[in-house]
Amino acid sequence: MNASQHAETHEVFNQVPPLDGANLYRVDLPLQEWSKRFGGGWAEQRLDVYGGLAGGELMAAGFLANENKPVFKSHDRYGHRADLVEFHPAYHQLMSAAIEHGLPSMPWTDPRAGAQVARAAMSYLHSQAEAGSGCPLTMTFASVPALKLQADVAEKWLPKILSTQYDPRNLPIEQKTGATIGMAMTEKQGGTDVRANTTRAYPVGLGGPGQAYELVGHKWFCSAPMCDAFLTLAYTTKGLTCFLLPRHRPDGTRNEFYIQRLKNKLGNWSNASSEVEFRGALAWMVGEEGRGVPTIIEMVALTRFDCMIGSSALMRQALTQAAHHCAHRQVGGRVLSEQPLMQNVLADLALESEAALALTMRMGKALDNPHDEQEDKFARLVTAVGKYWICKRAPAMINEAAECMGGAGYVEDTILPRLYREAPVNSTWEGSGNVQCLDVLRALSKEPGVLDALFHELGDGHGDARLKAHIAKLQADFRDTGDIQYRARQLTEDVALALQAKLLLEAGNSVVSDAFIASRLGGQGGRVYGTLPRGVNVEALVARSTPHLI
Ligand SMILES: Cc1cc2nc3c(=O)[nH]c(=O)nc-3n(C[C@H](O)[C@H](O)[C@H](O)COP(=O)(O)OP(=O)(O)OC[C@H]3O[C@@H](n4cnc5c(N)ncnc54)[C@H](O)[C@@H]3O)c2cc1C
Repeated sequence: MNASQHAETHEVFNQVPPLDGANLYRVDLPLQEWSKRFGGGWAEQRLDVYGGLAGGELMAAGFLANENKPVFKSHDRYGHRADLVEFHPAYHQLMSAAIEHGLPSMPWTDPRAGAQVARAAMSYLHSQAEAGSGCPLTMTFASVPALKLQADVAEKWLPKILSTQYDPRNLPIEQKTGATIGMAMTEKQGGTDVRANTTRAYPVGLGGPGQAYELVGHKWFCSAPMCDAFLTLAYTTKGLTCFLLPRHRPDGTRNEFYIQRLKNKLGNWSNASSEVEFRGALAWMVGEEGRGVPTIIEMVALTRFDCMIGSSALMRQALTQAAHHCAHRQVGGRVLSEQPLMQNVLADLALESEAALALTMRMGKALDNPHDEQEDKFARLVTAVGKYWICKRAPAMINEAAECMGGAGYVEDTILPRLYREAPVNSTWEGSGNVQCLDVLRALSKEPGVLDALFHELGDGHGDARLKAHIAKLQADFRDTGDIQYRARQLTEDVALALQAKLLLEAGNSVVSDAFIASRLGGQGGRVYGTLPRGVNVEALVARSTPHLI
């Protein structure tokens, strides 16, 4: 043997072919089916185009945007206060693609039937490539209904917010071709309890809706602080009120809005989250004075919906990677996806992913029909149910998907570590888990028609005896109001499972619905993934979720 032969230490084999460049729409049969089912079929071509982008150049940009975190520049080189956040070009590429394809604007500029569903599907694709940029995208999208409550403010801002041009320049709104919007509610002494806010608003002139105020105070969390304006809350003499606070004043000078520092976060690295101070910052009242919470809830309801989309998307991308890996990786001479215990795990993950998507898309349909009373009540409830349940399920599900890939799933060369880091934030921000469950109770007990809308939706459980029994138990559980707060998570979970089971039954794929019901109803839930009972057609479930088998 010569020296060069010794240098050949090993042949690389039994490694998985890269999935780079896969069209995330084409490889996702459940997405195709559910978006069509709820009225988004007309957007198929757009989804196909965005699916190609998301699996290709945006996926690559996602890695760069997270490896190169945003940097806060408090001052310029001459010592003037600058308050800028600098991002890697890949972040701008992600924002630009999303805005050009209408992710924050589609349902508002083209409100045809299925628009919310189609936009949710686009967002689902985007979030699989990169989730951090989803923060300013969703806030921009969600700001629209709140801003529409104040016609004069909306008239000035909406054309820029609904523009399909991404303009990241830090300039007064008049000079820009597009705008992004943030939201600043949380203060140090209370995020959930916004009534504990201490920020105060002082009228510049007469005051009142649409009028200018000066805001003094702070916000402990203000994500995407390079947005052009922020919906925020501050106290006037009449109570907590909503304001739009721009980065610039009408004379073109910078507003008295100061970024203190960026948060050093567990995940969500491409997105900047900051602490800010308002030192007499000019802001315009949006909606009725003293009615700040109901006004900003118009925005928060939609960002909660986007948490459902975001967590469903993270789960889907984790599943796609795990299923692909197991379809190629051999252990003991057999590919993993043919080995019974791995089939049990993958099939269980596939069920979780599809059930999350189903509930998310059904919610999109409800948002598409705001004038239908049943749909409106349904949306009121499912915003909280879905936000709680889907976001809670994501971290453990993604952890399991990473484990399917063995050590590779723990290494940053794959997307799995990023998906895992990203997952918990969706259950914390926009109202944490308990807050959602308490909101479910509030909606069901205080808002007329919501409880009826739920049981109308569930009906007789599509004739399935197991679901019927689950619904009957749910009705009894709601009638028993003793210690109901204590039981709020259990109740919310049971509502979520009932809705998911019903949706899967209605969709008519009995392989999916039978497996879901057998493993999640009748006291079967609460186990780790990979504990599906006997008799489930795991081969079919794995095939349905594996990219190359479709
Ligand atoms: C990365 C990141 C970015 C963020 N970006 C923004 C932003 O852009 N704008 C913004 O305004 N905020 C933002 N937030 C803040 C976020 O919305 C809050 O952290 C969240 O709403 C919780 O508020 P808190 O931190 O004050 O916790 P608290 O309100 O103190 O709550 C602590 C815990 O108590 C629970 N809890 C509350 N009330 C009850 C109750 N009655 N019974 C039982 N349990 C209860 C909550 O569910 C939570 O688990 C961001 C947070 C993170 C992590």
